[in-house]
Amino acid sequence: MSGFLFFLGCCVGSFLNVVIWRLPALGTIVSFKNRTAPLTLSWPPSHCPMCHNAIPWYRNIPVLGWLMLRGKCGSCQAPISARYPLVELGTGLIYLALYLGFFDAHWNNGPTPDFSGGAVAMVLYLVFVSCLLAASAIDADFFIIPLRIPYLIMAVALASCVFGAPKMLPSVVPASIGGKLAFGGTVGLLLSNALIYLKILPRSFATPHAATDHVDNVPLPLIPPPTLQKSWPQIAAGFIIAVIVSLVWVLCSATTAALATMVGGVLAFLIGILPRPMLAPDDSQLVLEESADVNARREISKEILFLLPPLCLAILAAAVPIALPALPWLERLLGVLLGLLVGGGMIWVIRIIGTLVVGRVAMGAADAPLMAAIGAVVGVPAVIVVFFLAPILGLVWAVVLKFQGKPNILPYGPWLSMAAILTLFIGNPIIHWYAQQLFPANAVPQRSSVIWPGEPTNPFSAGGSKP
Ligand SMILES: [Zn+2]
Repeated sequence: MSGFLFFLGCCVGSFLNVVIWRLPALGTIVSFKNRTAPLTLSWPPSHCPMCHNAIPWYRNIPVLGWLMLRGKCGSCQAPISARYPLVELGTGLIYLALYLGFFDAHWNNGPTPDFSGGAVAMVLYLVFVSCLLAASAIDADFFIIPLRIPYLIMAVALASCVFGAPKMLPSVVPASIGGKLAFGGTVGLLLSNALIYLKILPRSFATPHAATDHVDNVPLPLIPPPTLQKSWPQIAAGFIIAVIVSLVWVLCSATTAALATMVGGVLAFLIGILPRPMLAPDDSQLVLEESADVNARREISKEILFLLPPLCLAILAAAVPIALPALPWLERLLGVLLGLLVGGGMIWVIRIIGTLVVGRVAMGAADAPLMAAIGAVVGVPAVIVVFFLAPILGLVWAVVLKFQGKPNILPYGPWLSMAAILTLFIGNPIIHWYAQQLFPANAVPQRSSVIWPGEPTNPFSAGGSKP
């Protein structure tokens, strides 16, 4: 099973390489071998961008194909970027880590050893990390996040409510204030969207160029895939990661090994995507200019109007003394919605406050939907961990950019995504530890659900049988 998931992850990584390069440019008219048609994910077939020769299947094997070709096209010897094998290796390691962590090492009080206990959560997490990896790489390259990626994550999270309740997935405590907040907030969010659609509420940054980063209504031109001449430092780093992960497996406990595999996968992926491909246009100057929109403060005020209905209705619903029915599916649904609202809301508030304070657009418009999607999967306490972990990871990269003398402008998507992937393991231990610092007498169980410590309806603290 471990071997299967590692191989599956490598194959998904291979597909992600296609998605990363083609998704922002879908629909652009391209010519290939006497045919001119809109670009899709499957057409044109994978080929060398220099000599246009098709790549045979045995050279398309993840990781190994690149190593066998020594990073060069089999026909014309054009260099192939080390990004491809590293994205494949990273995805494979993260898939492997999720399986081992939840079914072998019991991170997070995850599923029991038998697969049926957590298959729904596992499938949800595999889709989740794949989407986050694609969003990270696209954001790193183009400073955009195609909105269909967070929407896909939200759809899968909502669909998972139909299936039983694996204990890792978000849900609200019956009759808690969290459920009411989620209910009111969701109604408000639907209302805001309806008002935007009816043009009663104004759209912010409606003029075409002031749309700044992260808006994907116009397909980008397809640029040639990345080719880096000097790929050996990246490949060497990939080998070192593989060796360290293997050593940890031999020497350490399963818990440590699963975490090391996860961290190794994240590192391999970042080493693959962060050195910007030479042929990609350097958009950082463009993003810098666009974010300096003179009307930033006025435009961002329109977004406050959008957020008012969800906020007011959430508070109103919490104040109404009527309990929502205690239905298991409703508790799961409200748990997902609460995570979605809190995750998206936190980033959106930072975007608005930051823009009002500094007078330039502080954060991409798609970071809020991405964080909303993350919240929908990890639930409410854990999404707060993501919120505080992401800037710490981003700060490391800001230091690297500083040393390279590049402008200090970095996409936030990769850091939100990597923090979210790490939080699948370390989120609940951090929450547990933090809750114990706050409420030493009232230990909170390690569980990804909405728990309001001290509230009598909390079934875990009220039961008393299990601390
Ligand atoms: Zn070639």
